[in-house]
Amino acid sequence: MRVFVVPILDLHTGSSERKYTKLLALLGQAGTVTPPFPPQEMCPCGSGDLFEACCGPLHDDTAVAPTAERLMRSRYSAYVVGDVKYLLATWHPSTRPQSLHLETGTGWRGLTILRTHQGGPEHSRGTVEFEAFYAGGSQHENSTFVREDGRWFYVAAL
Ligand SMILES: [Zn+2]
Repeated sequence: MRVFVVPILDLHTGSSERKYTKLLALLGQAGTVTPPFPPQEMCPCGSGDLFEACCGPLHDDTAVAPTAERLMRSRYSAYVVGDVKYLLATWHPSTRPQSLHLETGTGWRGLTILRTHQGGPEHSRGTVEFEAFYAGGSQHENSTFVREDGRWFYVAAL
């Protein structure tokens, strides 16, 4: 995996979205965006918590998502910050693509969790229905998740 060094200080102005648009513009068509996402920023998943106290520790593998919804939120954040490694690691091996190329400039605007079914700490399966908003549209999906060895994995869209 290639790692890009970007002038982070230059990104510390404006909204997260603008920063990432700026970051993506710096990277051009180069593909994978490697965090760091500014840890003191509000988490992209919309929880209202700081990234470093929310999806950051999940991305760093210093915490494990206790519920399917929590995993879903952290995967949305991973799309926003371009963390392909985390997206693949939390994708169930039965449906995981060999590689993942994120389109740059999607302009993610936010996530709304519409409904969850099971997916709790006591379950081994669950579904999460959500709508993810981006510039000019949204993606509405009901996703299935399984929990194996204490870890939730995304399986597929229903
Ligand atoms: Zn979060």
